[in-house]
Amino acid sequence: MRVRHPDGQAFTFDAGTLCLELSSVTGGEGHRARYEVLHSPADFVRWAAASRLDLRAHGVRPGDVVVTEEELALVKRLREAVWAGAWATAGGGAVPPAAATVINEVAGMAVPVPFIAADGARAWRRPVRGDQLAALIARDAVAALTPPTAARVRMCAADDCALIYLDTSRPGNRRWCSMDRCGNRAKVRGHRLRGKEPS
Ligand SMILES: [Zn+2]
Repeated sequence: MRVRHPDGQAFTFDAGTLCLELSSVTGGEGHRARYEVLHSPADFVRWAAASRLDLRAHGVRPGDVVVTEEELALVKRLREAVWAGAWATAGGGAVPPAAATVINEVAGMAVPVPFIAADGARAWRRPVRGDQLAALIARDAVAALTPPTAARVRMCAADDCALIYLDTSRPGNRRWCSMDRCGNRAKVRGHRLRGKEPS
């Protein structure tokens, strides 16, 4: 997913899993408010269309997604819970009980209804509602923030970067949110430390 930082840089960020794609790069409460991108239900539809929900692969266009203000509030409540859970998990702990309660509640809600379309393709029954997408995100959080997967939830190794991702690399040695951003900055710093210009 392409992400634009408030400092203006656009970079590619692979969150590794759906729930972190929501919690890491769409803003949130407190100091994360300056990254907020979900100002309206339409913003959530745009995020969903760009996310690994892969609406298009299920025959769903953005116009087929209906999101109310209440559902947007639900998504944001879920986002805070996923953030808290991811923060704890990246630090080697477990999802805090209050966050688990929210995630579990949303995970129990109805998800999009799949069906086989007339042309044989897989599809979701339209319209798709915001709370159905929230339920998919919450179910992903249950899978991602629990063992054994949780051991692969990491925070970017840069001191000034708090992006959290699921390391899906085979060796499990991913260190940066993005090579375009923190990986490259670290490389440049390494060159400076050795008294060279970056190549
Ligand atoms: Zn980073």
